[in-house]
Amino acid sequence: MTADRGDGPHVRLLLGAYVLDALEADESCSVARHLQRCGACASAYVEVADAVSLLALLHADDLLE
Ligand SMILES: [Zn+2]
Repeated sequence: MTADRGDGPHVRLLLGAYVLDALEADESCSVARHLQRCGACASAYVEVADAVSLLALLHADDLLE
């Protein structure tokens, strides 16, 4: 088990919305803070951001439904 330094829960479930800029400002802030401290979520973020940027070229509006 990896300790998380008390910086809240992992944010993987929020990464999709974070990448799409669909979170509230304070949520977005805490995701950004978590990513700076958590290597696991940071690499998940890179994967999600890559996938989203590719998909966004095709159907950005469809993703938000
Ligand atoms: Zn994490």
